Amino acid sequence: MHPNYFSLYQNGILEGRAKEGYRILENCHLCPRGCSVNRLKKERGFCKSGKNPIVASWSSHFGEEPPISGPFGSGTIFFTNCTLSCCFCQNYPISQLGEGNEETVTSLSRMMLSLQEKGCHNINLVTSTHFVPQILRAILLAIPKGLKIPLVYNSSGYESLNTLKLLDGIVDIYMPDFKYGDDKQGEIYSEVPDYFSRTKEAIREMYRQVGNLKLDKKRIAKRGLLIRHLVLPNDLAKSENVLKFIAAETSLDTCLSLMAQYFPANRAPQIPELNRRITRREYQKVLDLASSLGLNNILRQEI
Ligand code: SF4
Repeated sequence: MHPNYFSLYQNGILEGRAKEGYRILENCHLCPRGCSVNRLKKERGFCKSGKNPIVASWSSHFGEEPPISGPFGSGTIFFTNCTLSCCFCQNYPISQLGEGNEETVTSLSRMMLSLQEKGCHNINLVTSTHFVPQILRAILLAIPKGLKIPLVYNSSGYESLNTLKLLDGIVDIYMPDFKYGDDKQGEIYSEVPDYFSRTKEAIREMYRQVGNLKLDKKRIAKRGLLIRHLVLPNDLAKSENVLKFIAAETSLDTCLSLMAQYFPANRAPQIPELNRRITRREYQKVLDLASSLGLNNILRQEI
């Protein structure tokens, strides 16, 4: 059975969405920053990205959550640059220093097909917000050549509703981070003024599009929403607000990955409140809170 995007390809909607995406690049407001630069004419906004996709790496990846990695891996395409600038980003050489190679949409479509040929369960588009139009065009090229596995949109959570609407019916699995439960924290640690406000809207829309995570008989994700929340030291992520929002506005069955792997990377070692790992107690507190709210589909980590 083909994922949803196949019918959108057949009836021409996918092509229309790709065209609309390129129109947005002329006055870029792909993400809520709305830089209004013409990326087709070499102007650059906050994400420093232009017309062509830039890819840092692509491979079968086994380190994602079990329903995403499965036994044969997730076909991860890691895009360069980012619409945020998190002071603790573990991937900052890629997200902030621009490590990666400029590609064409044709080479991007070949990567997708090659990952599918390797047996990956899905195409996992990591940090892809600023390249949505290019991704749509690459999918358009890959479908007639046989692309048929689900698409995972793996993002920071900071998304504009218009861009998410371009992806409606095309993305099978949304896997957003939900980094902070307060706009102020985003401003201090990720250089973004309205993270919590915008991510709440984005997650509502993602949930509207795909609903709860659905697995096949082998426990591999086929469709739905999987939210990730990285617990930060000293409750800097304001986890309670994040969890309360998820419980109230999505579903108690929402698949929520509570991540404990924080370590001080990038500029974090110079920031006293971020310069340590989280304690077992801090992590347990967030797990207990999730449980007290009735959230019952939690992916947890050992700490
Ligand atoms: S995608 Fe990049 S250029 Fe476009 S609005 Fe966002 S940060 Fe600005």
